[in-house]
Amino acid sequence: MHPPPPSTPTTRAALLPLLTATGPTLRQLYARADATRRAHFGDTVPIRAIIEFSNLCANNCLYCGIRADNPRATRYRMTTAEILDAVRQVVATHTAGTIVLQSGETPGHGDRHLTDLIRQIKTEHPHLAITLSVGSRPKRTYAQWRDAGLDRFLLRFETSHPTLFARLHPGETLDQRLTSLRHLRELGIQTGGGFLIGLPGETLEILADNILLCQQHNFDMIGIGPFIPHPHTPLANQANAWAHDPDMFFRTIAALRLACPRAHIPATTAYDALFPDGRNRALQCGANVFMPNATPPAHRQKYQLYPGKPDPTTDPTQWAQATHQRLHTLGRPPDPGPAHSLIHPPRSSTP
Ligand code: SAH
Repeated sequence: MHPPPPSTPTTRAALLPLLTATGPTLRQLYARADATRRAHFGDTVPIRAIIEFSNLCANNCLYCGIRADNPRATRYRMTTAEILDAVRQVVATHTAGTIVLQSGETPGHGDRHLTDLIRQIKTEHPHLAITLSVGSRPKRTYAQWRDAGLDRFLLRFETSHPTLFARLHPGETLDQRLTSLRHLRELGIQTGGGFLIGLPGETLEILADNILLCQQHNFDMIGIGPFIPHPHTPLANQANAWAHDPDMFFRTIAALRLACPRAHIPATTAYDALFPDGRNRALQCGANVFMPNATPPAHRQKYQLYPGKPDPTTDPTQWAQATHQRLHTLGRPPDPGPAHSLIHPPRSSTP
């Protein structure tokens, strides 16, 4: 691993001033993060299209709208044929070089189907990169998916604070989540971690530690986004810890970019749920990846992790055009390639 340049924040003491910057200091932070992003990735934006293929979930994360104990969530699971069709529609738009398959967590159920699905997608679309985001599994399951052709896996650790983690995730521990992340790395799967910003009980120190944990794990990708209270969850009435200071969501992206200069950082959908131009702003203060929602319109409303998710109905051609337009307006043309990790590039591919 390269030693970090001297300006890289590597301690709480270095991060706290970034996370509390205001006025001209804050503008400088955003400019520095944007320049760091440009130095490593240039101005093009890799597109990863998400297909939210199931909201079945056995977990009970206190913040999440598709938690097992939310009886008001209408459950669905797309069939293999439906998923393959959705992938074909994405490929036909020539927009995305990566497909992200995300769902709730149902360990054991459907894991074999996912192995077959990965194989089928890779046979039909050999140049398309595949990311899974389906939660913790035994290492051997991750290995089977890798052998079928899986490129990447996203698994946010959600918070670096073990007690806060345990309180919000009944039956799970932070240690287990981090063990899964280590397994993915050991298997040579490009690994994405990340966290929620502003979970009730989060302090500035915890937020700084979240960034440091990403740095220590040297993740290939890091997905972060604001916690948004969902009305049908136990946290319905708990405000985001930074509701009084919304700049915090962008300071965090900028500080993360400085701490992890070579990681892919997406402008996540939750930014658009809170701010009309949220994802654009994220792309201008450190983020380099865009993840449009390619879930078939019939299912989108049912994948409500949090309220206010944007663009509930557009078809793939429309979202592809809207994505292109949005990125061109920012002067950041889309990159239709797979845009593999800069940190652990796959042996068989050119970046
Ligand atoms: N089941 C998979 C995918 C989880 S959903 C897994 O366990 O990894 C993807 C992400 O949505 C979660 O990691 C979480 O960070 C985010 N999320 C869930 N509820 C949210 C909420 N109320 N506000 C903002 N983000 C939320």
